[in-house]
Amino acid sequence: MSYTDKLAENLARRAANDLYRTRRVLNSPQGTEVNVDGRRMLSFCSNDYLGLASDPRIIDALKQGAETYGVGSGAAHLLSGHSIAHQELEYALAEFVGRPRALLFSTGYMANLGIITALLGRTDEIWEDRLNHASLIDGGLLSRARFRRYVHANVETLAESLTRRAATGMRLIATDGVFSMDGDIAPLPELATIATQHNAWLMVDDAHGLGVLGATGRGTLEHYGLKIEQVPILMGTLGKAFGVFGAFVAGDAVLIETLIQAARSFIYTTALPPALAMATLTSLRIEQTESWRREQLFEHIKQFRTYAAQLKLPLLPSITPIQPLLVGSSNQALAWSRHLETHGILVPAIRYPTVPKNQSRLRITLSALHTAKQVENLIDKLSYYS
Ligand code: PMP
Repeated sequence: MSYTDKLAENLARRAANDLYRTRRVLNSPQGTEVNVDGRRMLSFCSNDYLGLASDPRIIDALKQGAETYGVGSGAAHLLSGHSIAHQELEYALAEFVGRPRALLFSTGYMANLGIITALLGRTDEIWEDRLNHASLIDGGLLSRARFRRYVHANVETLAESLTRRAATGMRLIATDGVFSMDGDIAPLPELATIATQHNAWLMVDDAHGLGVLGATGRGTLEHYGLKIEQVPILMGTLGKAFGVFGAFVAGDAVLIETLIQAARSFIYTTALPPALAMATLTSLRIEQTESWRREQLFEHIKQFRTYAAQLKLPLLPSITPIQPLLVGSSNQALAWSRHLETHGILVPAIRYPTVPKNQSRLRITLSALHTAKQVENLIDKLSYYS
């Protein structure tokens, strides 16, 4: 059998198991209504939680950034690609999360790979929540540290695993702050206590908490009132609530300097276009001054959960904008998604291997810019399954 035939056979198997994935083509800006494959649809599936991805002020900042700095950064940060726009954004992000320093990465995926591989080697150990994002898992595997997963959000099994073994080197516990496919929040205070007891570092990927959780949008750590001493490594992304692109890590000067020296996905890649850094600075300012966005978002979450509970929909326990409906089989999840699609509502089915087998779901996400009427419309169409 030729290699191509083998690949074709694998693809056919995926399709037969309802696991084949395709891309939809958007022909509009990101928003609560989008043009998809030529059709106007109501969307409940972006991570643009605050509705900033198409904000005219951020678009203006991007344009101005391009006027000032051109388009491409032209080089890696350690050569000549690190501009004053990057520098200012790093200062602003560090101040935002209340830490001495921050370091930009091109994407969240690269940040997680870079951070973990820079800090850990063969003699070290890493513990990860089973439902961690793929980039945390991949970073752990790539680092060649002893890799252990613990039962989702289960601090007892983690503590037991740490106690059972003598430390061989550095120990790192890594977790999502808000779990990307479930929407629940990691038990960070307990994890921080365990980390201290076992002389381990705690790293939190707050891709879905930052800008959303906490009284002022500073994320899951603010939600719990946790400090840098408890969570020394904080990673955040800029393509979700911030509505732009990129990622950063925040911590003390020694951590950041270590990453500048050793994080390969920081060193060996072209710096983000500086105009994106300018756009993100504007987004950060808007995010800090327009608290109505968070208030409106949490109104929608409450509204959605109240109706969904009345309809006895298979809702997962989540107080965040990620509101998954656990459907079960891939086939059923696709049927739910297609039903919504016939009514002009876009919510793709999330299937294995993104989530465990037979835990396929509709990952519904809410945005500050949805209207109460749009949420009602979604619930109305979902009532078909109640
Ligand atoms: N961490 C988590 C928890 C995520 O959900 C994502 C994005 N899906 C990432 C990291 C990766 O971020 P980026 O999209 O910037 O690569």
